[in-house]
Amino acid sequence: MVTAVVGANWGDEGKGKITDTLAEKADIIVRFQGGANAGHTIVNDYGKFALHTLPSGVFYGHTTSIIGNGVALDIPKLFNEIKSITDKGVPTPKILVSDRAQIVMPYHVLFDQYEEERLGKKSFGSTKSGIAPFYSDKYAKIGFQVSELFDEDVLTEKVDRIVDMKNIMLEHMYHKPTIDKKELLDTLHEYRDMVAPYKCDVSKFLWDAIKDGKQILLEGQLGTLKDPDHGIYPMVTSSSTLAAYGAIGAGIPPYEIKKIVTVVKAYSSAVGAGDFVSEIFGDEADELRRRGGDGGEFGATTGRPRRMGWFDCVASKYGCRMQGTTDVAFTVLDVLGYLDEIPVCVGYEIDGEVTTDFPVTPLLNKAKPVYKVLPGWKTDIRGIKKYEDLPENCRKYIEFVEEQIGFPITMVSNGPGRHDIIYR
Ligand code: GDP
Repeated sequence: MVTAVVGANWGDEGKGKITDTLAEKADIIVRFQGGANAGHTIVNDYGKFALHTLPSGVFYGHTTSIIGNGVALDIPKLFNEIKSITDKGVPTPKILVSDRAQIVMPYHVLFDQYEEERLGKKSFGSTKSGIAPFYSDKYAKIGFQVSELFDEDVLTEKVDRIVDMKNIMLEHMYHKPTIDKKELLDTLHEYRDMVAPYKCDVSKFLWDAIKDGKQILLEGQLGTLKDPDHGIYPMVTSSSTLAAYGAIGAGIPPYEIKKIVTVVKAYSSAVGAGDFVSEIFGDEADELRRRGGDGGEFGATTGRPRRMGWFDCVASKYGCRMQGTTDVAFTVLDVLGYLDEIPVCVGYEIDGEVTTDFPVTPLLNKAKPVYKVLPGWKTDIRGIKKYEDLPENCRKYIEFVEEQIGFPITMVSNGPGRHDIIYR
């Protein structure tokens, strides 16, 4: 059976933790989109890890971790990441990389930096990992597939043709050093040797695994609101963050995705630019940021402070609907235990009218939050294992959110660890 684990909001909902928890009973975990730009933070018996490329199943001996064709594969980063976990005593994970995955080229990272520099104040807040230039090239059909590294003629011809184009941009648009073709080819040969042991016909592997009744997890990166079609365009990422895309980015039939676990955080946070209706500022935001997540809400890739806000029912209802949610995992609820009262955004006021439907970006610009204030529970709920044992106001908060978003909350996460989970 295939289960997708995806985010409803701006990312950082705690998908890594939920995937890690569910991976205990999984055989295969697949990354299907995105690249090394966002990160998952995972706390387990080996320590605390920030993963960027590897799926969150790499800590188990029994799982196979797969980089699907939809991922922006940064080969040196993948290898450094494998090393960083094995250095801390994690057994060498079983990893497969799709022969149809495309490669983040060294110049993609440079173009990302140069473009953000050029945009200055109007920049997207990119993590400068080369993701937008990578996906642009993929769809402009000038990307490099893993399989192409193994055909010298194809590789040489493409490097020759594509570097000519890139150098025009580098020289005339950005006034930066140009790319040396020979050097780039040498780098790609290194990449080929690095990736060779892991290269796999992943869609065939997964087809067989599905036939054998294996448990497969698809692990999403970021969340609905960062989807290029359904998110807050243009302040979005460059690959689809929706569970539906899991079928394409892993190479499996869409009807095989039977369960869609959408991860929703008990308050809001966002990185990068873009509208954020329930955003809070000043001391209120600083305190939530400091207490949030596991050791504060700071980007797993960049260390940037995240923007903070109250829970947004409008965005989360939409986020869950677009994912095709069967189950909601409601996370980081323990963090809210310090508050006397907890505001929840229940509507957007746009041009004098209140709506609970998430709007397109030009209308989102004008939206003002409508809040309902719920009483806090003023206790630490970490360590609680049964739903009935949660304080009454805490259960009321969960049930209020569930009613507003309209999807069942079947898991409540009350701590960063693998077993800090309450099933309902
Ligand atoms: P992801 O990208 O969706 O996996 O999310 P991140 O890893 O960026 O952010 C989630 C943060 O919250 C990480 O630091 C997790 O360790 C932490 N976390 C996840 N679930 C919980 C929870 O229920 N309680 C607390 N306190 N922290 C959590």
